Amino acid sequence: MQKIFLKSKKGFFGVNKGRTHAFGGQYVPEILYPALKELESAYKHILPSKAFQKELLHLYHTFIGRPTPLIYAKNASALLNNEIYLKFEGLANTGAHKINNAIGQVLLAKKMGKKRVIAETGAGQHGLATSAACAKLGIECVVFMGARDIKRQFPNVFNMRLLGAQVVSVESGSQTLKDAVNEALREWSRDCKDTFYVLGSALGPYPYPDIVREFQSIISFELKKQTRTFFKGNPDIMVACVGGGSNAMGFFSHYIQSKVRLVGIEAGGLDSKHNAVRINSKNANIGIAQGYKSYFLSDEYGNLLETYSISAGLDYAGIGPQLSHLKEMGRVEFMSATDAEALEALQFFAKHEGIIAALESSHALSGVLKIAKTTRDKRIVVNVSGRGDKDIFITAKALQKDAWCAFLENEIAEMKGK
Ligand SMILES: *Cc1c(COP(=O)(O)O)cnc(C)c1O
Repeated sequence: MQKIFLKSKKGFFGVNKGRTHAFGGQYVPEILYPALKELESAYKHILPSKAFQKELLHLYHTFIGRPTPLIYAKNASALLNNEIYLKFEGLANTGAHKINNAIGQVLLAKKMGKKRVIAETGAGQHGLATSAACAKLGIECVVFMGARDIKRQFPNVFNMRLLGAQVVSVESGSQTLKDAVNEALREWSRDCKDTFYVLGSALGPYPYPDIVREFQSIISFELKKQTRTFFKGNPDIMVACVGGGSNAMGFFSHYIQSKVRLVGIEAGGLDSKHNAVRINSKNANIGIAQGYKSYFLSDEYGNLLETYSISAGLDYAGIGPQLSHLKEMGRVEFMSATDAEALEALQFFAKHEGIIAALESSHALSGVLKIAKTTRDKRIVVNVSGRGDKDIFITAKALQKDAWCAFLENEIAEMKGK
C-alpha cells in the first residue's frame, strides 16, 4: 500500500508504480524555470517563517474577516435526518474563499520585493480577490481575462477596475480562461524579475498546488476548533465542491489523516456531453496540460475539451494534482451534481437556512442532499465556498426569467431616458 502525500515531494503527489501515478510536476517552458525556482525558495523559506505567518494571520482577521462561521443548519438537519453544519466562506471579504489565497500570494510577492502582480481569471472571482488584495497591500495589479468572459462577467470586471486593477482583454483562442492562463504565463516569462504571478487554484506547476493548499488550509484549521463547540471528535462526512480544488483542499487539509469520509462534488452540467466532470467520466484522462500532470477532460489525442457548467468557477478542464492523487489512493470520493440539482439545493438552503450560496457551493450542498438520503444521524460538514450575490444574473434567468426581464427592461429605459 502506498503512502498518502500530504504535500508534494520534489513537486509530485504519489509515485509512478504499478497502476498508480505521480501527479503534479513542473511541465513548463524552460524560460520559466528561474521564476519557479525563486517561488519555490520563497515557499520554503519566507512562507513558513514566524514573521510572515503572523502578518498573514493578522490580515486574515482584520481584512478578510476570519474566522468565517461554522453554522449548525438546524432546519435542514431535521428535514434530512442528519446533523448538517455549514462552514460559510461566503462571509469572507469579496464573497468567497479565493481571498485566503490571493492575500497570501500578494503578501509573498511583496516580501520577495516584486513590483507588480499579474493574475488570470475566468469568471472574475480570482481576479476580484487578487485586485482587492493588491489594493490593500498597495501593489500594481494586472488581470488577464478572455474577451468572451469580459462580456459575460461584466459586474466582476467593473469591480476589478473599481479596485484599481488593469483588466487586459485576451483576444486569442476561445477567448476564455485557458487563453487567459496562456497569456499570463507569457507575460510572466517576459518579466519574471519584477512580476509575481498569482495563481488562483490548487493546480498549475509546482510549487503552486502546495502554496495554494497552505493558504487555504486556514479553513480546516479553523474548523478543527469550531466543531468543538458543537460536538466531540471529528465530523463523519465532509463535502466540498471541486473546480480546480482549492476550497476542497483547504477544507480537507487537516482531516486527510483522519477517518472522516471526504467527498468532492464536480459539475455535472446539463448531461453526459456538457459538463466539467474530470473524475469518473468517460472523457476523463490522465494527461499533462498547463504545467502539471493530472486528470483532464480531453479527447483521445490529449487536447483539452470544452467544458460546461452553470457555475463559472467549476467550469474548467483540469483538476488539481493532489486531488487526483487522493482519488487514486481512495482517500477522497467523487460525485457530481447537475445544474438543475445545484439550483434545487440553492433554493433548499436559502429557504430553510437563510443562506444564499454561490452556484459552485450549491453543488456541494446538492451532494449533501444526496448523501443524506443514504445515511442517518451523521455529522455532515459542508464547505459553502462562496455566497451567491455574484450569481444573481444567472440564477434569476434560470428561476425567474419573466420578472427579471421586466426589471432589466425598466432599468435600461431609465438609463436611456437620462
Ligand atoms: C472559484 C470558486 C470555486 C472553485 O474553485 P476551487 O479552486 O475548486 O475552490 C468554488 N466556489 C467558489 C465560490 C468559487 O468562487
